[in-house]
Amino acid sequence: MRITFVGTGSIIPNPKAIHLRSYSSILIEIGSEKMLFDIGPGTLHKLHTLKINTQIYPDYLFLTHYHIDHTLDYIPLVKSRHFNQKTCDVGIGKPLMVFGPIGLKRWNKDIFQNISKWNYMSKELDYRKVTNCFEVSNGNVLTKKNWKITCCPVDHDDGIAFRLDSNGKSFVYTGDMGYDERICKLGKNADVVAIECSFPDKKSLKGKHLEPELVANIAKIGNFKSIILTHLYPIVYGKEKSIIKTIQKLTDCKVSIAHDFKTITL
Ligand SMILES: [Zn+2]
Ligand SMILES: [Zn+2]
Repeated sequence: MRITFVGTGSIIPNPKAIHLRSYSSILIEIGSEKMLFDIGPGTLHKLHTLKINTQIYPDYLFLTHYHIDHTLDYIPLVKSRHFNQKTCDVGIGKPLMVFGPIGLKRWNKDIFQNISKWNYMSKELDYRKVTNCFEVSNGNVLTKKNWKITCCPVDHDDGIAFRLDSNGKSFVYTGDMGYDERICKLGKNADVVAIECSFPDKKSLKGKHLEPELVANIAKIGNFKSIILTHLYPIVYGKEKSIIKTIQKLTDCKVSIAHDFKTITL
């Protein structure tokens, strides 16, 4: 499997950063299949720079929770799938399989039917024909011939984390989360865990998020083989080395920091 970090930042942009960290999204490719985990603002544009045709891909979308920084490009993605790419005529393009926490069907309907200025998505167009929504909360999500996805709840606005197993390799994506040991069980012995590390230390920690000591504790209990830190707030900027040091003092798991367009192959 090939993993590309599309967006590795939080909702707050950092004008000081040399390289922009944009909103959350991870692309995974297994053979000819492409799946996306979260789809924050700007994801479609970035997928096009990766030469991914979003009229066809992703085949699957997995949402960790419904916060804006993780979901906003879902709206243009669904709308664009209604159009023929060559003629621009209205037709029904490739349907998208969407998996997300409880509330997915209601959220989908709220956006495309209940927001009055956007309800042409259910009148002139029909969002129901291009979206197949599946609500998941714990355990099995989807099993295919060469891969399977499972999930568990995490402490962040009823969010969930996902685990992908394929050909004896495993990848876990936590989404946003506060300290929650359920992720240790889901991610047990995982090869790579993309884990949120929103803040650089205990004193700056806010909301349901993680900082390096909490990340290290989770990685240790879960016996993760390697972790990649993502969802970094601007306050992390310039403190990356000390964050890695702090984690490495507490656990012997491999630690690195994600950046937009970082790619790894498992
Ligand atoms: Zn977030
Ligand atoms: Zn969030």
